[in-house]
Amino acid sequence: MSTQISVHPKHPNVPFVDLGAQYRAIAAEINDAISKVIQESDFILGREVRLFEEEFAAFCGAHYAVGVDSGTSALELALRAFDIGPSDEVITAANSFIASALGISHAGAKPVLVDVDPYTHTMDVKAVERAITRRTKAIIPVHLYGHPAHMDAVRELAEKHGLIVIEDACQAHGARYKGKRVGSLGHAAAFSFYPGKNLGAYGDGGMVTTNDGKIANRLEMLRNYGQKEKYRHLFRGYNRRLDTMQAAILRVKLKYLDKWNTARSRKAKLYQKHLEDSKVVVPGLAHAAESVWHLYVIRTEHRDQLKEHLASKGLNVGIHYPIPIHLQPAYQDLGYKRGDFPVTEAYADRILSLPMYAELTPEQIKRVSRAVVEFLSAKSPREIPAGADTLRASQIA
Ligand SMILES: *Cc1c(COP(=O)(O)O)cnc(C)c1O
Repeated sequence: MSTQISVHPKHPNVPFVDLGAQYRAIAAEINDAISKVIQESDFILGREVRLFEEEFAAFCGAHYAVGVDSGTSALELALRAFDIGPSDEVITAANSFIASALGISHAGAKPVLVDVDPYTHTMDVKAVERAITRRTKAIIPVHLYGHPAHMDAVRELAEKHGLIVIEDACQAHGARYKGKRVGSLGHAAAFSFYPGKNLGAYGDGGMVTTNDGKIANRLEMLRNYGQKEKYRHLFRGYNRRLDTMQAAILRVKLKYLDKWNTARSRKAKLYQKHLEDSKVVVPGLAHAAESVWHLYVIRTEHRDQLKEHLASKGLNVGIHYPIPIHLQPAYQDLGYKRGDFPVTEAYADRILSLPMYAELTPEQIKRVSRAVVEFLSAKSPREIPAGADTLRASQIA
């Protein structure tokens, strides 16, 4: 990701993510951890998996953590552990990574999508209430871009209707809501350790956290052929385990996660400072939320032009996500159409993710911000974020 040829020899490209920089800072520890796993031939559900599960559960303030092979599996298996499947409906947000819906589909249930609150980009809880039917079994709030969803309102609604809440925390390792970590805010939570996430493996990986011992038990069997003891299979489980090698790497990285997240938050403040008076809308932060800034997502009506402009200067940006889930070819059978989720659809054409990672330098942030400000200063007036008045004003704490 970080090895493109520079457009301007004097100004090296600013990569969107720089996993190499992170590795170089901790290379000795990582290499040591990998080498130990190989020397001990402890590859499958080894000691490091158990230790990482304990440490990650403690990090989240949850009783249990069960390592699996991806975030998508974490969502699917969490639903299966609660016996949610065919003929059940599960509500999630239309503007998420496709995997939020795939986890539901793979469990055999039907994804029901809702629009998002225009300020935080997380699920609009009033829309969730309208989407509840007799078949609804669970809600999957997504802590999108590292910003926790409106969990009090989600939980209140879930309690009222007897629904399970499974957090999609795949972008939010370490984020807090009213002082509590995500991963401890629902019946269970799904995490991804895809390399580019705030806590990333060197390959795929995932985790389910829960306070429910029975659910943790079922998850341990679901990921491991449905067995508790070797060669005795209580049901038809899967092979969806977290690798010992990845767990060893993640154990090293977990020690740095708070430090890296604090660094991201400093980057966000710096972007905010540089962009505040420009014509872009900077990300909102709800009063109760402590984001871990997985992505720094601005909005502008001139998104495509701006993206091209930045690319011409070697500044790498992304769009998360250009096609909302309800407009994906993969989900045409759900029967949604353009116009169903106005906020999500409007944002899909306006959102732009700026480079964001702990090693990003103030100079790089300045270069990116300057390029944004200069390009947009000639354009039409600033977009006012619809609905911002209903929540606390943008404040980066
Ligand atoms: C990354 C991600 C997932 C899926 O995780 P994988 O490990 O890639 O399967 C699910 N939901 C969200 C919001 C994500 O960002």
